[in-house]
Amino acid sequence: MAHRLIACEHCDYVHVENDIPAGSVACCIRCGSPLYAAEQQRFDKPLALAFTALVLFVIANIYPLLTFSMEGRAETNTLGSGVLTFWQEGFPFLAFMVALTSIAAPMVVIAAHIYVLLPISMGWTVPGVKRVWRVLAIIRPWSMLDVFLIGLLVALTKLTDFAQVIAGPAFFAVCCLIPTVLLMNTTLDPRTIWRRIAPKGLRYLTENDLIESRSNGSGQDNTKGSGAGLMTCHTCSMVVAAPNVDHGHCPRCGAVVHMRKARSLSRAFALLLTAIVLYIPANVFPIMTVTYLGRAEADTILSGVAALVQAGEWPIAIVVFTASILVPIIKIVLLGWIYLATWLGLSGPLRQRTWVYRITELIGRWSMVDVFMVSILAALVKLGNIASIQPGFGAVAFCGVVILTMLSAMAFDPRLIWDRAGMRRETLRQKTLRSNSLKETQGSPS
Ligand SMILES: [Zn+2]
Ligand SMILES: [Zn+2]
Repeated sequence: MAHRLIACEHCDYVHVENDIPAGSVACCIRCGSPLYAAEQQRFDKPLALAFTALVLFVIANIYPLLTFSMEGRAETNTLGSGVLTFWQEGFPFLAFMVALTSIAAPMVVIAAHIYVLLPISMGWTVPGVKRVWRVLAIIRPWSMLDVFLIGLLVALTKLTDFAQVIAGPAFFAVCCLIPTVLLMNTTLDPRTIWRRIAPKGLRYLTENDLIESRSNGSGQDNTKGSGAGLMTCHTCSMVVAAPNVDHGHCPRCGAVVHMRKARSLSRAFALLLTAIVLYIPANVFPIMTVTYLGRAEADTILSGVAALVQAGEWPIAIVVFTASILVPIIKIVLLGWIYLATWLGLSGPLRQRTWVYRITELIGRWSMVDVFMVSILAALVKLGNIASIQPGFGAVAFCGVVILTMLSAMAFDPRLIWDRAGMRRETLRQKTLRSNSLKETQGSPS
C-alpha cells in the first residue's frame, strides 16, 4: 500500500491509508465515521450479484405485482402501474418521484455496476466508465426499492381485510432483489473501483506530502485537510492539493472539487424550513380517499395509522407510525439542532453531533413508505363505486417533506460542525489573549 492520504468526509481529519484485514473498515479517529474498506482484488461476487439483480429487476418489471379481486372483479398491477396512475390522476410530481425511486434509480444502480465491473473483471476497455461511476454516486441515495417493499407490505395488509389479494411473480422478485442489491453494495467498496478506473500514472498525495505541507503550515489546524491546504473530492473522495483558487477539477473523476460545499449552511437551512412549512399540509390534507361500497372516506397520515390500530394490525401500525410520523419529526428536529449549533459555532459533543447527522442521512428515505403505499393502492383498487382509491394532496406535500429533508441533509457539509466549533474556540482564545495582554500592559509599571 502506498500510504495515500485520506481525509474524513465528515470532519476533514487527514489520515494515512494502511493495509487492513479483508472485510474490515477503517474509521476516522476523530469523529468515528467509516473511512475506507480493505482493498479488493477480485470483483466476481459483486458482478454475479449484479447479474442476479438484473434478472430479478426484469421479472419485477414485466410480471404482475399483486392481483386484487372483489365481487367477482379483479385488477392486476405491475411495478410501473403506480407511476401511470399518479400521472393519469393529475399528480405528475408523485409520478416522477415514484418512477425515479422505484424504477429508474434501481435500474441505473444495477446497470452501472455491470457496465463498470464486467470490463474490469475481463480486462476490457470501454468508454465512459468514469462518467457512469460518477452518475452512480449521485443516483445511489435515490434508489429506494427496499422502502418500496415495506410500502408494498403495508398496502397488502390494508387490502387483505376486505378483498382477496394474490401476490404475483414480481412481488417475489422484489423480495429477492432487496437482499441481492444489499449484498452487492456490501461486497464492493466504491473507492476500490475509483482506484482501478483512475487515469494511468495518477499521482496520489502520500504521507510525505502531508509532512511537507505541515512543515510549510500557516499556523492553522493542520490535522484538518483545509488547514494543510488539501481538498477532498465529494464524488470519489480523492485528496488533492488545493489550487490557488477555491474551485478546481478532481484529477481522478473530473468532478468539481470545493474546499467546502458552497453556501452549505444557508441552503440546508432554507430547504429544512420549506420542509417544515410543507409538513403542515402533509398532515392536514388526506393522502388518499378510499371509496368502499359507495361510501368515500378521506385518509390522512394519522388516521391511516389509527385505522391500522383499530384493525389490530399492530406491527404494521408501528412501522407506518415510525416511518411516517416519528422519522420526519425526529429528522427535522435533529437537523435543525445540528444546523443551529453549527451556525452558532457551539463546541460540545461534536463527535455525537456528527454521528447524529450520519443517522439522519440514513433514516430519512424510510418515510417514503406512505407514498409508495398510496401508489400501489391507487393503481390496484380501481373498481369504481365498489372499491376505489384516489391519491390526495397530502401525499404530494408529504413526499415534498421527505425529498426536501433529504436534499437539506445532502446540502449540509458536516465538516462545518468541526470548522465552526474550531473557529469559535479560536476567536475565544484570541479574545482571552488580547484581554490578558491588555491587563499586562495596564498593570506593568511605566
Ligand atoms: Zn472524521
Ligand atoms: Zn473525484
